[in-house]
Amino acid sequence: MTFKIRNKSSGREFIAEKLETVLAAALRQGVMLPYSCRNGACGTCKGKLISGKVDYGTYEAKAMSVAEKENGYALFCQARPLSNLVIEAKEIAVAKDIPIRIMPARVVQMEKLAEDVMRLSLKLAEGQRLQFLAGQYIDILLSGNQRRSFSLATSPLSDEMLQLHIRHVPGGYYTDHVFSKMKEKDLLRFQGPFGVFFLREDSERPAILIAGGTGFAPIKGMLEYAFAQGIKRPLHLYWGVRAKSDLYLQNLPAMWAKEHKNFKFTPVLSEPKPEDHWNGRQGWVHEAVAGDHPDLSQHEVYASGPPPMIDAIKGMVKKHRLPEDRLFFDSFEFAHAPAS
Ligand SMILES: Cc1cc2nc3c(=O)[nH]c(=O)nc-3n(C[C@H](O)[C@H](O)[C@H](O)COP(=O)(O)OP(=O)(O)OC[C@H]3O[C@@H](n4cnc5c(N)ncnc54)[C@H](O)[C@@H]3O)c2cc1C
Repeated sequence: MTFKIRNKSSGREFIAEKLETVLAAALRQGVMLPYSCRNGACGTCKGKLISGKVDYGTYEAKAMSVAEKENGYALFCQARPLSNLVIEAKEIAVAKDIPIRIMPARVVQMEKLAEDVMRLSLKLAEGQRLQFLAGQYIDILLSGNQRRSFSLATSPLSDEMLQLHIRHVPGGYYTDHVFSKMKEKDLLRFQGPFGVFFLREDSERPAILIAGGTGFAPIKGMLEYAFAQGIKRPLHLYWGVRAKSDLYLQNLPAMWAKEHKNFKFTPVLSEPKPEDHWNGRQGWVHEAVAGDHPDLSQHEVYASGPPPMIDAIKGMVKKHRLPEDRLFFDSFEFAHAPAS
C-alpha cells in the first residue's frame, strides 16, 4: 500500500511506501523538506497537514505542543501517512540535488582533542567522494538497525578525508566504543549527508555562529568553507564550553581571527577552573550573544550543540527580534531506539 503526498507550497508530489515517514519518503525522492534530528525531538520538520490522516508516531512534547497538533501540525520525521496527504511545508532548494548514500569508510586517524573529545579522520574508498554542504551530518550505521548522528567537521572542498568530533557520552553505546575499543584502520559504514544546517550563501547579512561543545564541528566546516570561498560578510563565532580545556581546538579560531578581517571569535566558559586563569567571557554562551546583540533583527544565527543550548537560543528569537526564518540550528539530540 502506498500513499500520494502533495506539498501545497511547491506543488510537488511524492509517494510514501508502507510505514515510511513523510520525511523519509520526501528525501528518497529528492524533495528537501526542512529537518534536523530525525528523532522527533527538535521540531525543525514540523509542517502543516492540510488533508489526510497520519499516525503521528512518537515524539517529545517540546517538539510539538498539543495545541499545534490540534491546529493541524505534524512532525514529518515521525508522521506516517494512513491516507493520501496534502501538506504545507517549505522546501530547501540548495540541498535537494545532493544524493543521500550509504558508504564505507576507514578510520585512518584517531586523536584525543580533549579528555572527552575524539577526532576521527575517515577515508572513503578509492575514487569515492561524498558530496555535501558544509555543516551537514552523517549517520554512522550500527548493528540492529541503530544509527548515530555526527556532524562533518570539514569543508566539502576537502571531501576526500572526512572528520568528526565525537564527544564521549559515558555509558553511551557508540561513543563508549569509540573511546575504548575503536582502533585506527577499523572500517565503518555511514549514510549521508543529512540536514539543512549550512551557511545560506544567498545572504550578505552578518552571521552569528554559536557552538556548544562539539557543536563546533559543523561550524568549523562552514567557516572553512566560507573562508575558502572568500565570503566577506561579518562572521562572529561564540564557542561555549565549561572550562578552558574543553576549547579543544581554540588555536584554530584564534588564527582565523588574525587572518580574516570579517571574522571574530568569542570563547565563553560556563565553569572556568581556577587553574584556567580565565579573564575572558563567562556564563552561558547564549547570554553572551544576547548581551552583545540586544537587537538581532538584521542578523542570521547559526547554532549547534546540546539541546538545552538550542532551546535557550530558540527562546531568544522574540525578545531579540530575530526573525524565525533566520535561525538555523542542529540540536545534538541523542538517538531513540529504532522503530520496530
Ligand atoms: C544532527 C546531529 C548532529 C550531531 N553531531 C554531533 C557531533 O558532531 N559531535 C558529537 O559529539 N555529537 C553529535 N551529536 C550527538 C550524538 O549523536 C550523540 O551524542 C550520540 O548519538 C550518542 O551516542 P551513544 O551511542 O554513545 O549514546 P546512546 O547509547 O545513544 O545514549 C545513552 C544515553 O546517554 C544520553 N545521551 C546520549 N547522547 C546524548 C546527548 N547528545 N546529549 C545528552 N544526553 C545524551 C541519553 O540519556 C541516552 O539515553 C549529533 C546529534 C545530532 C542529532
